[in-house]
Amino acid sequence: MNSWRADPAVADLLEFLQKSPTAFHAVENLRQTLLSAGFTELPESRRWEIAPGGSYFTTRNGSSLIAFRIGTELEDAGFTVTASHSDSPCFKVKENAEIRVRDHYVQLNTEGYGGMICSTWLDRPLSIAGRVLLRSRDKDGRETYESRLIDFDRDLVMIPNLAIHMNRKVNDGVAYNKQVDMIPLFGSGEVKPGEFREMVAAEAGAAPEDILGSDLYLYNRTAPAVWGARNEFVSSARLDDLECAWGTLQGFLKGRNGGSIQVYCCFDNEEVGSGTKQGADSTMLSDVLYRIVRGLGMDDEDYRCMTARSFMLSCDNAHAVHPNHPEKTDVANCTYMNEGIVIKSHAGQKYTSDAVSAALFRGICQKAGVPVQFFANRSDEAGGSTLGNIAMAHVSMNTVDLGLAQLAMHSAYETAGVRDIVYLEKACETFYASRFTADEDGRLQVES
Ligand code: ZN
Repeated sequence: MNSWRADPAVADLLEFLQKSPTAFHAVENLRQTLLSAGFTELPESRRWEIAPGGSYFTTRNGSSLIAFRIGTELEDAGFTVTASHSDSPCFKVKENAEIRVRDHYVQLNTEGYGGMICSTWLDRPLSIAGRVLLRSRDKDGRETYESRLIDFDRDLVMIPNLAIHMNRKVNDGVAYNKQVDMIPLFGSGEVKPGEFREMVAAEAGAAPEDILGSDLYLYNRTAPAVWGARNEFVSSARLDDLECAWGTLQGFLKGRNGGSIQVYCCFDNEEVGSGTKQGADSTMLSDVLYRIVRGLGMDDEDYRCMTARSFMLSCDNAHAVHPNHPEKTDVANCTYMNEGIVIKSHAGQKYTSDAVSAALFRGICQKAGVPVQFFANRSDEAGGSTLGNIAMAHVSMNTVDLGLAQLAMHSAYETAGVRDIVYLEKACETFYASRFTADEDGRLQVES
């Protein structure tokens, strides 16, 4: 047995990945972890009663979550923040789902969510999970709505490839049409009209006519695996970005500082541009930070001073050098799995890192005994975008973009390094145990 396979940090991550087929399930699992750690849930729609020394969290849409822990000595305090995302590219089931093919097959009508690698979804057992909105009744008999999470948790649908005999050019590259090639097979012609809806209702413990709305997604059923000559790699669905969502949470739960306010964020909808009410491009983070400041009896001026004394880690996975295509990455600013946390920089500032934020974060990693690596895109490649610079439009603070090196980003089955999750947890623990403040000239300093 290899020591990394036995590492509880890796085992816990894999369990979280398995239990989190959708952003709704991921946030519910984060919520349960925080409740068992003694955090108090604060609905956004109620007045918040908060106090120094307290630990709280709130959710929006059931798919984004922000938790915070308030120190007890808040003079000159700032916020220490991490942000990651709860969603991953996948396929969403459309409202009118069933499609009959020549009366011998029933398919489910889907559309793409985010930028997935289509071919990785073919020829493997898939299942369906998400949330349904049900008609319900309150204790006085009034009609209400209830949101319920469902997960079929069984091999339920498959998107079959076309045989090579029917597409001789399949190995020369295929242009996948999502309305034609990516529609999953659900059953034979024996499946009755409405049967999918009935199955969803049964899964939710409700009658089909009581389902008023649904957000249901396909997910990959393949279990995570630790593999490689020395068990150095881990593969799973949704490593981007649940690996960071989990790793930053572990650091948040362990790293404390009485002189700051520690904030953990996990946002939905990064894969579709973050522009939703619960995405990084919403008011969610600024709403929460402002309510904390006001709830502690401070004013607008304090809020501005505190954000200027704050620091954010924008955490989203990074590209490792691909063994078959090393030429796709910059020759010197490229990263490898198991070799440490990746600091991402981009001259055009799609990544927020700059000399100041990279320096401060590098210092934290040094203190934590965690190696760092640097990533920049090839200068002739556009690269991806992430959370940090989007969140900055609503609440601006010193931020570094980082991630863990992985292969096959946006595949239905991605690969990362087993050591890196431990590095992220350690670095985040040290980060949250640090205090950011301003010196006499107003420059950001870190005390750790
Ligand atoms: Zn991501």
